[in-house]
Amino acid sequence: MSANIPREISIIGEMIGIYCRGKHSDIKNSGNLCKECASLLEYAEGKLRKCPYQEEKPSCKDCSIHCYSREYRVTIRDVMKYSGWRFMVRPPLESLLKYIS
Ligand SMILES: [Zn+2]
Repeated sequence: MSANIPREISIIGEMIGIYCRGKHSDIKNSGNLCKECASLLEYAEGKLRKCPYQEEKPSCKDCSIHCYSREYRVTIRDVMKYSGWRFMVRPPLESLLKYIS
């Protein structure tokens, strides 16, 4: 696994955390992601780990595989829109945002 993938996984995790805290109530009580967001994170992480391109990974939007199912793609775009601005100054995130928009 390339060094990029764990970093992307941790960024996605942070973004989903911000989104869940802002949008869903569960996390305020438990400190954990709600079921929906936890499964989204698990899904995104699984996709990154299995990405056949790894080091050469193109932006997801330009990728021929389109490995996210339609349902998850819609949700992750919502997460990016909601949480993205907090990360705008971080170069890795700019490229992440490009993947899905
Ligand atoms: Zn949530």
